[in-house]
Amino acid sequence: MGGVSAVEPLSPAQLSAWDDAQTPPVAELVAPQVWAIPVPIPAGTIPHTLCYALFGGDGVHLIDPGWGHPDGIRALEAGLASAGAALADVRTVIATHFHPDHLGAAAELRERCGARVVFSRVEQQVLHTETSAEATDISAYRETLRGWGVPEPRWDELIASFGRPSLVASGSPDLAVDDGDVLDLSGHRLHVLATPGHTEGHICLIDEERGLLYSGDHVLPRIYSGVGIGVLPGSDALHDYFHSLDRLAPYDEFVVLPGHEFRFRGLAARRAQVAAHHLRRTREVAALADELGDAPVWDYARRLTWTAGWSGMSGFWLHSALRQTAMHRDYARTASARARLGAAPPA
Ligand SMILES: [Zn+2]
Repeated sequence: MGGVSAVEPLSPAQLSAWDDAQTPPVAELVAPQVWAIPVPIPAGTIPHTLCYALFGGDGVHLIDPGWGHPDGIRALEAGLASAGAALADVRTVIATHFHPDHLGAAAELRERCGARVVFSRVEQQVLHTETSAEATDISAYRETLRGWGVPEPRWDELIASFGRPSLVASGSPDLAVDDGDVLDLSGHRLHVLATPGHTEGHICLIDEERGLLYSGDHVLPRIYSGVGIGVLPGSDALHDYFHSLDRLAPYDEFVVLPGHEFRFRGLAARRAQVAAHHLRRTREVAALADELGDAPVWDYARRLTWTAGWSGMSGFWLHSALRQTAMHRDYARTASARARLGAAPPA
């Protein structure tokens, strides 16, 4: 099988560790001067983040240092030690996005090693929005539930589940990057590619010389990343996400180094799978729109197919189902959605 037709796992150790919920080796050389270090996620639904340690002439540069937790820092220390470096050698910490399993350890590394923290300027705004008083205001959430048409007896469980994951303390980068910027890390030249969707300020990093794409959570080999988990007001996360998948086309032959699971080849195939997965939902919502029109999100959500079944949906899962439905309903009305649906007949 060629790389174009299927996802091809490149690390048996990472693959089997993920499947058995074990931690893969403390560090694995994945490209010249590039190591993957698994960093555990405490009590997470997924076991670990893959942090990449780029060894340069002036020290070590980390991409996605993982959760800021004593076990995480210990894993980084052990990984760096087995690759021949120490925590004190860390010069730069780059995060693909603000989620705590990626940016989490950045603040501590800045403090302990004087590392420079880098993430995107847009993500800096997202982080600001997400931690604002408005975003954590219950009364605003009640208005959302009213707008979604959620029956009042269901409000309590949704409000109870309303509470954001503990966000990172370090709200600002030392260096905020934009699309097209180049990070020259003594031996690793990384191009910054804005890939909004999973979060609005998500970036991928491209190493042309080594043929590597650091993909964060934008594209994972088997997991379908959520869309719109941290956006700015008025955004269209699905539109952005599909566009960000298209933007990776020039790197279809590159080795993909994702934030979770395992490294792989076959980006073209994976991009197609991921787009089809989300578009299926948009199509389902668009088909209901003829009948339901402007009906509230609740009426749409209860008619959609859910893996766990609609009746079994409660608390946080109900919230995400409604949020996802709202996003697809809004997106389905756009010209962009109509064009994509028209271009890709039902599979
Ligand atoms: Zn993640």
